[in-house]
Amino acid sequence: QAKSVGRNTYAHYSPALEARASERLEMRNQLHHAIARNELILHYQPKVSMRTGEIIGAEALIRWNSAERGMISPAQFIPLAEESGLIVPIGEWVLRSACAQAMRWQRLGLPPMIMAVNLSPRQFRQGDLRERLRQILADTGLRPEHLELEVTESAIMENAASAIRLLGDIHDMGVHLAIDDFGTGYSSLAYLKQLPVSILKVDQSFVKGLTSEADDAAIVTAIIAMAKSLRLAVTAEGVETLEQLEALKKLGCDNYQGYFFSRPVPAGEFTALLRHTASPADPP
Ligand code: C2E
Ligand code: MG
Ligand code: MG
Ligand code: MG
Repeated sequence: QAKSVGRNTYAHYSPALEARASERLEMRNQLHHAIARNELILHYQPKVSMRTGEIIGAEALIRWNSAERGMISPAQFIPLAEESGLIVPIGEWVLRSACAQAMRWQRLGLPPMIMAVNLSPRQFRQGDLRERLRQILADTGLRPEHLELEVTESAIMENAASAIRLLGDIHDMGVHLAIDDFGTGYSSLAYLKQLPVSILKVDQSFVKGLTSEADDAAIVTAIIAMAKSLRLAVTAEGVETLEQLEALKKLGCDNYQGYFFSRPVPAGEFTALLRHTASPADPP
């Protein structure tokens, strides 16, 4: 009974709130069945070398093609998956599918590239992540050097001591590590020095203003300069224009992703992109 919960409950209660809560519950149940119903799919966005213009990797990005709701972006359901714990089986599915896809591209004779997968904070806290990773690499046959994991500063800083150990173990396996959305989270430069990461991804919010806002330009310049001196590679996210690309190149940025080159696309379209931009690196 609402009455027994106390007066304040009335002030906060509203039919709209209740509707939202039950809507979330329903979405959660649908998400629960999404894996078994094959409703989850991965799109892939190219990572491109500034120097050569070649595709050097792909970032796997999840989408949910819900029977009830149509195509849903991760921004809408990853937080729900994270909260409910569903991110653990979903994340496992993403890792396995992305590794399997990377192997498929290798078997087609396409030049090997690095497959990047996003890890959510909760997956990162999962005790057996190391074993799961090892198992997935063994099952799919992907070499660890061909896998990159993207984690955010906040995921790391939640428990920095255990994160440093975990990242160290993953690094020792040979898997590459990137810090995603760099510059937006709470991070400590002192930790950055200790982390076995090799890539910083400059958040797209800074890239957006790079050629128009002095503050964003200053931030991007500082991040790239710092990365260089720490001998980290820099990937810029969200590059949409030639001006941004040129500016980043001048600053010494190594690689980029963004609509300027390609949106995230289904695997079949990515194969076509790979064939199209693959240079004759192999001797005749
Ligand atoms: P993120 O890892 O930072 O991924 C970059 C996001 O920027 C993607 O959005 C991508 O489609 C979008 N993007 C790429 N280039 C451009 C551009 O030029 N302009 C603009 N405006 N946007 C661009 P998406 O696919 O909606 O994913 C959003 C976030 O959801 C990701 O951010 C990541 O944090 C999370 N996410 C996606 N897939 C997964 C997954 O498999 N597991 C987990 N844990 N999180 C995921
Ligand atoms: Mg990412
Ligand atoms: Mg990002
Ligand atoms: Mg993000």
